Amino acid sequence: MSRAYNFSAGPAVLPLEVLQEAQKYLVDYKGCGMSVMEMSHRGKDYDAIHQEAVATFKELCGLGDDWSVVFIQGGASMQFAMIPMNFLSAGATADYVNSGTWGNKALKEAKKMAALRGATVNIAADCQKDIPTRQPTEFNWTDGAAYAHICTNETISGAEMKVIPEVAAPLIADMSSDILSCPRDYSKFSMFYAGAQKNLGPSGMAVVAIRNDFAEKGPEAIPTMLQYRTYTKENSLYNTPPTWGIYIFCETMKWVKKMGKENLFKLNEEKAKKIYDVIDSSGFWSGTALKEFRSNMNVTWRIKGGDEELEKKFIEEAKAAGMSSLKGHRSVGGLRASIYNAFPMEGVDALVGFMKDFEKRNG
Ligand SMILES: *Cc1c(COP(=O)(O)O)cnc(C)c1O
Repeated sequence: MSRAYNFSAGPAVLPLEVLQEAQKYLVDYKGCGMSVMEMSHRGKDYDAIHQEAVATFKELCGLGDDWSVVFIQGGASMQFAMIPMNFLSAGATADYVNSGTWGNKALKEAKKMAALRGATVNIAADCQKDIPTRQPTEFNWTDGAAYAHICTNETISGAEMKVIPEVAAPLIADMSSDILSCPRDYSKFSMFYAGAQKNLGPSGMAVVAIRNDFAEKGPEAIPTMLQYRTYTKENSLYNTPPTWGIYIFCETMKWVKKMGKENLFKLNEEKAKKIYDVIDSSGFWSGTALKEFRSNMNVTWRIKGGDEELEKKFIEEAKAAGMSSLKGHRSVGGLRASIYNAFPMEGVDALVGFMKDFEKRNG
């Protein structure tokens, strides 16, 4: 077996233990005589997995009975559409923060719905001209807004919102790339969600945590599968859920619990700091996001202020040394190391060693 150090932004590295556990039970899940992929989603074996997935995630986020955790296909991008469809009614206003590629995509979907319905989207903060260096810190919230939407970590720029703003309206957050990566008071939100393929499990669904009373605010006139209440009331079992993805999500959450989330949060700090320390150690490197917004999940940086030839060489040589997917997103350029919860410290040490050596040879 040969595992690369996988710096991909998503789908991303999963804990090796989780993959091995899944492999062990791939064809016969704990004596059931079939794979989790082959079981009825209404049977007791699958039901136990589903319940444990929800319960473990709720425990890790500190969510009580007034919350539901549901699994919705279509990824985080489907949430961009479902949120305004459910919560932006005619005549209402929703606040959006344009913090980067993802915040902007969410905003665009809301504008479509606002145009269809005769509602308003207010851009409460806009750092468009400063992308990819920062997240906004000053906001113009609308009194009586239906909700406010933020993206806590802009995966592409590597800029993270370090302080969650105080908002009177129900707060909704896209946490696709930093969910369960740092201490966070999840009770501040009415809803938060993440495409599973970054910090939670395989691709194919979004994990959505939503307050039950908030889910009820959506109109019943929209399609059943696009109403949050369909998922909260039926525990994501109105139709066939992505059972395999939920199983791996469950195993990943059990792994987080076993590691201890506080330990993981500390490790995440240490992993990111090791890379940022090299970036700050000489003029050869420069961080893409400003220091006070640096993400602990997606580290973005340049070589010699954006020497594309050298960056290309860096990516190729790193790949040959067993480190994959270090290329920055095409919209930002440069380099990006995504180091989610499951990314091992040894991989960070390998990268840091490689960076120092690369600088010696090319500085
Ligand atoms: C990856 C990502 C998305 C898109 O997720 P999909 O599941 O591919 O739709 C949205 N928001 C953020 C912050 C992301 O990192």
